[in-house]
Amino acid sequence: MTAGHPLNFAHFSFKQLMELDACTRCGECIIWCPTYTEKKDEHITPLKKIEQVRRFAHRQYGLWARLFGPRPTAGAEITEHSRGTYDCTLCGRCRVVCPVHIDTRPLWLAMREQLVEAGAFPEIFAQVRDRIAAEHNNLGEPNSNRLAWADNLEEPPPAVGAGQLAELIYFVGCVSSLYPMAYSIPQSLSQILRRAGVPFAVMGAQEWCCGFPLIIAGMSRHAEELARHNVEAVRAAGAKRLVTTCPSCYHTWKDTYPAILGEPLGFQVIHAVELLDELLEQQMLTLGRYEKRVTYHDPCDLGRTSGIYEAPRRVLRSIPGLAFREMEHHHEHALCCGGGGDVEMADPELVGMVARRRLAQAQAVEAEVIVSACQQCRRTLAGAARKEKLRIRALDITEIVWEAMQNEGL
Ligand code: SF4
Ligand code: SF4
Repeated sequence: MTAGHPLNFAHFSFKQLMELDACTRCGECIIWCPTYTEKKDEHITPLKKIEQVRRFAHRQYGLWARLFGPRPTAGAEITEHSRGTYDCTLCGRCRVVCPVHIDTRPLWLAMREQLVEAGAFPEIFAQVRDRIAAEHNNLGEPNSNRLAWADNLEEPPPAVGAGQLAELIYFVGCVSSLYPMAYSIPQSLSQILRRAGVPFAVMGAQEWCCGFPLIIAGMSRHAEELARHNVEAVRAAGAKRLVTTCPSCYHTWKDTYPAILGEPLGFQVIHAVELLDELLEQQMLTLGRYEKRVTYHDPCDLGRTSGIYEAPRRVLRSIPGLAFREMEHHHEHALCCGGGGDVEMADPELVGMVARRRLAQAQAVEAEVIVSACQQCRRTLAGAARKEKLRIRALDITEIVWEAMQNEGL
């Protein structure tokens, strides 16, 4: 980023430009921001981010600029703004508490798009962009490894392609496909569906990254080819439904892909918690006892972004013997696990700090298990619990349901 570089405000919608002016500086969002709470860097706060971008805009387009010409924004200011904008988990908690209803999460994404165009973003994102372009996954692994998690299954699920058709497709996502620590999530869902007699297929090497890491990095145009490929592969398999265990993939498929394509997908997109809830209602799952104190952590992209709060709670409450505990912050006020917004790439230490605070809330209600419905929340919380040597297990909801199904008859 060179000093005096003009910033492109075309990344902001008219409504977002109005929102920059709507902030009353009340400061309510500051109290609720999980990363500001840990790091105390004012550039993270919604108030400061909005104030800075408003100032940048006035320098380029305000009355003074029209009378005497635009004034440049110094590179150092942009760098500070970039640091705060990329230390945000995009959890969306600030939107819930904002008294003037500023739709913050899309606003932060617009800021990231602007920063990427200005060349002011963490270098690691360029590496991730290039890895996804080369291998179609965010780890840069050969994409043919996507089914490694199924190697130990008695009956690995069929993969689409070569004429294989499927009414239900399970889109596994990069994290569960390629991080061994998360393999047990697709293994659990696959075994649940098999035991319930629900036919399904996976995409194998046909599955490309959904593009979410690029979209939230501010590089959304690089996600367009991924969207077209994935949707085409699912349509070619004749699918009527697509299920995912990842809330970010879910949001991307359900909300972002139709916007990118400019047309409906032609099939339904559901999250695994909705499918589990449905199978339980239809009495297609038989659950054994699971005698532990369990709390539920709402993933940001499943809860605040997608509005799904009750299905996972119904699933957990239907498990015999399970004692459900609600944490201090839950539903739309839930604390983030720290693992969102690509912060793990920009500032991994900050992620651990937020995760420890969430685990402390789970311990305060004496939970033995903290359950989420997201592979990234599970990875983040389990990693922090291990690092701190805390006596609490972090599991995905598919894992706990599969465990209860295996306890049937005991
Ligand atoms: S989205 Fe979350 S982390 Fe980002 S500014 Fe809002 S409250 Fe803070
Ligand atoms: S809560 Fe809303 S109005 Fe208040 S400072 Fe934050 S963004 Fe501005």
